[in-house]
Amino acid sequence: MTLSQIAMPEGAVETLGDRTGFVALVDRMQVDPALKVVNSARISYDKRKQAYDEKDKKLCRFLWEHGHTSPYRHSFYTFHWKAPLFVFRQAFKYQVGSGWREYAVDGNEVSLEVFDVLFDTDKGCSWNEISGRYVQWTPEFYVPSLFRGNPPHGNKQASLDLPASFDHAREHELMLEECREAFRRYEERIGRGVAKEIARMCLPQNLYSQAYWTVSLQGVIHFLEQRLEPDAQWEIRRYAEAVYALVADDLERVGVRRDEIVKPRNP
Ligand SMILES: Cc1cc2nc3c(=O)[nH]c(=O)nc-3n(C[C@H](O)[C@H](O)[C@H](O)COP(=O)(O)OP(=O)(O)OC[C@H]3O[C@@H](n4cnc5c(N)ncnc54)[C@H](O)[C@@H]3O)c2cc1C
Repeated sequence: MTLSQIAMPEGAVETLGDRTGFVALVDRMQVDPALKVVNSARISYDKRKQAYDEKDKKLCRFLWEHGHTSPYRHSFYTFHWKAPLFVFRQAFKYQVGSGWREYAVDGNEVSLEVFDVLFDTDKGCSWNEISGRYVQWTPEFYVPSLFRGNPPHGNKQASLDLPASFDHAREHELMLEECREAFRRYEERIGRGVAKEIARMCLPQNLYSQAYWTVSLQGVIHFLEQRLEPDAQWEIRRYAEAVYALVADDLERVGVRRDEIVKPRNP
């Protein structure tokens, strides 16, 4: 068997316009997630349907609107992200509803609690990332072409494009130079025999990394609700847009509309 480095997977959605960052759907459960929502709700009445219809869509909407979210926790998706470290730092916050395991040990089913005691797992966490302890990083950095500044009203959760009079190209070049310099020093340090786990400490936050994220349908919607919003940083919004594009059909089927995910703002 040969091992190869990961290229951009087919069907991936590009995120930051630099042909580097992306989100791809690795896999998802085979059962229709919309049918699963209604069947997991209807089990209360000892009922099950084979096909999903408009009436079911209404039931889905009712469940979602009234906060009956557990039926949305039976379908899982695995995404592959390639993103700068500072974006992952925000993304890794999404922990709850982001875990799915087969609760089996040696072929025998075990409860979640037994599994956790045996394997000392973190409940709910299912992010797996490249390790800078094991792998020497490649010099891939996200550097914006268009720079933003903080708005005059001082809202720290907002940034506005700096005017054309700002020297965007120069700023871009300066940032790139700093990244290249940091990377050169990183390689030199490794060359002097320093472990990767230490040499990486001086690398910048815009270095690209990669991770797998497994998350329930409810967890996806929760992430989208927070990170499609205008107060989320532009870069993670791009990742939220990519995730949205990959699950848009499923959201449409369960009747969760985009205008409900991104709430209208007060003027
Ligand atoms: C615009 C913005 C700015 C932010 N700024 C910062 C910042 O400056 N610093 C920082 O550290 N983080 C920041 N965050 C991250 C934020 O604090 C959350 O960690 C992140 O949004 C993940 O949301 P969550 O905790 O709801 O997600 P999850 O951990 O995935 O939880 C999902 C949901 O599960 C439920 N839940 C979770 N834990 C429990 C529990 N123990 N008991 C009961 N229910 C639970 C809650 O309903 C929760 O909303 C920011 C987020 C946004 C969107």
